[in-house]
Amino acid sequence: VVNSDAYTSFGGRSDRGKSAFNDRGYCNICFGGGTGGNSRWVEESRDEEDWSKPLSPNERLEQELFSGSNTGINFEKYDDIPVEATGTNSPGHIESFHDVDMGEIIMSNITLTRYTRPTPVQKYAIPIIKTKRDLMACAQTGSGKTAAFLLPVLSQIYTDGPGEALQATQENGKYGRRKQYPISLVLAPTRELALQIYDEARKFSYRSRVRPCVVYGGADIGQQIRDLERGCHLLVATPGRLVDMMERGKIGLDYCKYLVLDEADRMLDMGFEPQIRRIVEQDTMPPKGARQTMMFSATFPKEIQILARDFLEEYIFLAVGRVGSTSENITQKVVWVEENDKRSFLLDLLNATGKDSLTLVFVETKKGADALEDFLYREGYACTSIHGDRSQRDREEALHQFRSGRCPIMVATAVAARGLDISNVKHVINFDLPSDIEEYVHRIGRTGRVGNLGLATSFYNDKNSNITKDLLDILVEAKQEVPSWLENLAYEHQHKSTNRGRPKRFSGGFGARDYRQMAGGGNAFNNRGARNTGGHGGNRGFGGNKGYYGGNYGNYGGNYAQVDWWGS
Ligand code: ADP
Ligand code: MG
Repeated sequence: VVNSDAYTSFGGRSDRGKSAFNDRGYCNICFGGGTGGNSRWVEESRDEEDWSKPLSPNERLEQELFSGSNTGINFEKYDDIPVEATGTNSPGHIESFHDVDMGEIIMSNITLTRYTRPTPVQKYAIPIIKTKRDLMACAQTGSGKTAAFLLPVLSQIYTDGPGEALQATQENGKYGRRKQYPISLVLAPTRELALQIYDEARKFSYRSRVRPCVVYGGADIGQQIRDLERGCHLLVATPGRLVDMMERGKIGLDYCKYLVLDEADRMLDMGFEPQIRRIVEQDTMPPKGARQTMMFSATFPKEIQILARDFLEEYIFLAVGRVGSTSENITQKVVWVEENDKRSFLLDLLNATGKDSLTLVFVETKKGADALEDFLYREGYACTSIHGDRSQRDREEALHQFRSGRCPIMVATAVAARGLDISNVKHVINFDLPSDIEEYVHRIGRTGRVGNLGLATSFYNDKNSNITKDLLDILVEAKQEVPSWLENLAYEHQHKSTNRGRPKRFSGGFGARDYRQMAGGGNAFNNRGARNTGGHGGNRGFGGNKGYYGGNYGNYGGNYAQVDWWGS
């Protein structure tokens, strides 16, 4: 009568070697878990089920879930982060988790997690989501986005109960197909991120009837299927693996009321747009308006704007941090280097910043990539490269060598770098600048993530005049040092006066020598945290035709004093 297997075995959670859910009290209350014999009783008990009431505590699970919870968020860093909400009838923000009614289960789990007060993105996103509005939120990594959507979504599920989704799963179970109909779906670009969200979801679903699951590629699908079959109300998934699950008939999105796209920009970078559209638009997912959709992204380029238009209904746009600038976490340098001097300058740079910190070097052509890799290799640097002539497998292998630190320098063409999860790089070098400013923003966004300082150095010469003005704008918006020669060039470019001749090299620029000084000085950049004041640029950056929403602006999580990225 009911999907007895799915629910009686609800407890047998064995994934990732963590402890079972069967101590959560599911079995005690016989959660739909009867057999034909007592179906009448099951019906009744199901009617009485109140998803908003906490189940009995479980000491061991509680210990497991919450013992590691000390987040070390430095709230002083948050306090002057500007937040802007645009859209019709945006609800006011909250100052405390108690300002909005999220119910008993959520409140006690917030206490257990030791979150004392909401981060800026949480202050705004929670009431927006609670009032059932669609949301497009731009906020940097480390700003607390996960809880910003999990808390209100879960609280709503606890209040409303499972509704049709549960029934569908049970009906379906009659025929032994065990297809699961999650009430909420969270899409994330990578396995790591999916697991982080899943871990957070386990905390906030403690003592509830919601069972979170996670599926991602590159791992045994059989095991993931078995885990799903034990019940899945909130699913965290990478897009590729989810499509696979849907095609195998393991997941139905027919009753998905809450859809979250986390790190949407990275998902697009990694080439997941077809899978995302397949999931959201070409299957059984309720249409926009019938479901509630929340998108999170660090940047807001044109592709994300289009996705927001297609997926969201009358949404509220939330910008956390300064709009229209690239990260102040990222120190951007533009250096005048003639073509012939590029190689020797690169060596100076690599020596100054330390051979062991991950450095990504962008070049224009495949040939250039091969040549530069050979050159660096001959000079004794452990390096690798990715470009369009290499197979996806070779690229993945190169990426692995890079990320593991075996080859801490990687030479890449822009095209080849697309679709790979390259982040957390300490230094991005534009050996050849792109001609397109969006590509520039995209490249430098590979550094400076997760509260770390990053450095981006660009080699500029006569060949790059087409990007001059946009580059200057970006540097100014991100409050970077602007070389005076660049300013002059941009001015000349704009006024089409060509009578001033070429700028003097390095004047006001940033030569190799400066890097060495900084390497010695240690903390030359360490005081940038103070720069979070100042206005944000209104709607510039996102509504306009520039097509980019500055990257990882603002800094939250990071503790600058701890960053020793020059490598000693
Ligand atoms: P994002 O998704 O924006 O990168 P996360 O959601 O991963 O950020 O949060 C970053 C860290 O901050 C996590 O360790 C999380 O547990 C912690 N955190 C989130 N919200 C709060 C809060 N209100 N108080 C304290 N720590 C928090
Ligand atoms: Mg996140």
